[in-house]
Amino acid sequence: MQPHTRTYNHMNRNVGIIGAGLGGLSAAIHLARRGKNVTVYESNSTPGGKASEVRMDGFRFDTGPSLITMPFVIEQLYDVAGTPANERIQLIPVDPICRYFYPDGTVLDACASEEEFRTQVRTLAPSDAEAVTRFLDYSQRIYELTSDIFLFHSLSDLKSLLRWKNLPTLLRLPQIDAFHTVHERVQSYFRDPRLVQLFDRYATYNGSNPFTAPATLNIIPYVEYRLGASYVHGGIYALVRSLESAARSLGVSFRYDTPVEGIVVEGGRVRGVRTADGTCAHDAVVSNADAVHTMTTLLGGAGSDAVKRARRYGKLEPSCSGLVFLWGVRGRNDSLAHHNIVFSDNYAEEFDAIFTRRVAPSDPTVYVSITSRADPEHAPEGHENWFVLVNMPALTDANRDTDIGSVRTAVLRRLHAAGFDIAGDIVCEETITPSDLERRYNANKGSIYGISSNSRNAAFLRPRNRIGSPEGLYLCGGSAHPGGGVPLVLLSGKLAAEAVA
Ligand SMILES: Cc1cc2nc3c(=O)[nH]c(=O)nc-3n(C[C@H](O)[C@H](O)[C@H](O)COP(=O)(O)OP(=O)(O)OC[C@H]3O[C@@H](n4cnc5c(N)ncnc54)[C@H](O)[C@@H]3O)c2cc1C
Repeated sequence: MQPHTRTYNHMNRNVGIIGAGLGGLSAAIHLARRGKNVTVYESNSTPGGKASEVRMDGFRFDTGPSLITMPFVIEQLYDVAGTPANERIQLIPVDPICRYFYPDGTVLDACASEEEFRTQVRTLAPSDAEAVTRFLDYSQRIYELTSDIFLFHSLSDLKSLLRWKNLPTLLRLPQIDAFHTVHERVQSYFRDPRLVQLFDRYATYNGSNPFTAPATLNIIPYVEYRLGASYVHGGIYALVRSLESAARSLGVSFRYDTPVEGIVVEGGRVRGVRTADGTCAHDAVVSNADAVHTMTTLLGGAGSDAVKRARRYGKLEPSCSGLVFLWGVRGRNDSLAHHNIVFSDNYAEEFDAIFTRRVAPSDPTVYVSITSRADPEHAPEGHENWFVLVNMPALTDANRDTDIGSVRTAVLRRLHAAGFDIAGDIVCEETITPSDLERRYNANKGSIYGISSNSRNAAFLRPRNRIGSPEGLYLCGGSAHPGGGVPLVLLSGKLAAEAVA
């Protein structure tokens, strides 16, 4: 009998990628490096997707990510592209990683050095200082147990999960703490509510709710404190620009202002993409667009499996959305660091608004990032560029017409309470709403990170990198495995490319 061989992979020479977000750029580099002929279609006129850039009145702003974790993922991608990362970009460690402002007037620096961080915590809550190390050890254990299976490999099928190599990990799965919530576990380590609030916040790093998300997400503090948090010199957009140029030098072609209108499927197999200019033939298509947009709008009714899958993806809970204010601010607020969090009075109420009632929080926690701290040319002399982010619910029919003006007022009130009375010093402004994220990037319900991790089985339900039916369709980006955030979407591009090749 002839051995059964899967020959179709050899045909995947000519690959179309939908979307030049960070996941799409990573997939393009990995595929081009494997000798594929790659074309990237992007609806907007520039690359980056949510990680874009705005320039106005002498100010420069990043529009999305501001803090980069797992820098080694970026370094590995540049190695694949053929030039070491430090010859293309400069990753600058951030210290303090973040400055926290509490409603009672306390200010706490989360220093990059664990020793210094403990010292800071000791002045605030002496009995919690040693808990920082114990908590990060616990967080590290979760990373060591899960990263290989859940981050660095494709969860393409049950068989790959059940590889012999994974068996010891699978037997230790109870240790990944999926049966507590983030909040319950954080509370078991820290007594001071301010530290509980600080460590709970990490669940929002992938758009989830610490009061419902499994404690497995407590992996994130380890990633930030022990693997390092960085900024890219020149702005996060410098990373996008440089990855796009690395892809071009490997022969990737980019077609901007070219929305893909549909994925062409014949005989159960992807044949190409349809744009306003006509149909372009491809042996395989990697979609960096949101999985729900891909399965519903782009695949339409192409096969009953696709319809079923579209319905299933549509039911997954999207991550929270966000509202961004880009403010050019007159003067200098020296008590602010590069990254700052100004906490709200009632954190539980804020999460209840965002994830349960699905309304804008009336007293939001406010994140402020000022890149002109590291790159003074990002603001005119005597000014600062404030990127201000508040978490918002994913879009519903009922909250689409949220009054953004009243959220802006609440943000200014919260900043004022923390000592930053800047309302009269805002000299220029641009706002990015959840509806903008949906419209500009086809982000499902305006979600920032794709799919939330609010349930224990979210990692298993998240769309895979290889769809299987139709054959030849692959997914990468925040809504696909392994999830949202810069390092994970870069990994998803790699995993999708490996699946194609
Ligand atoms: C406000 C904000 C703050 C954030 N902060 C951080 C942070 O500090 N750290 C961090 O790690 N992450 C952060 N993130 C998350 C991070 O930005 C995202 O996870 C990541 O950038 C998403 O990349 P992606 O590959 O999923 O693609 P996206 O950025 O979603 O890009 C998808 C691309 O596909 C294009 N596209 C969609 N449909 C089509 C179509 N039909 N035809 C052609 N093109 C199409 C879109 O235009 C877009 O360019 C933040 C995000 C936001 C919005």
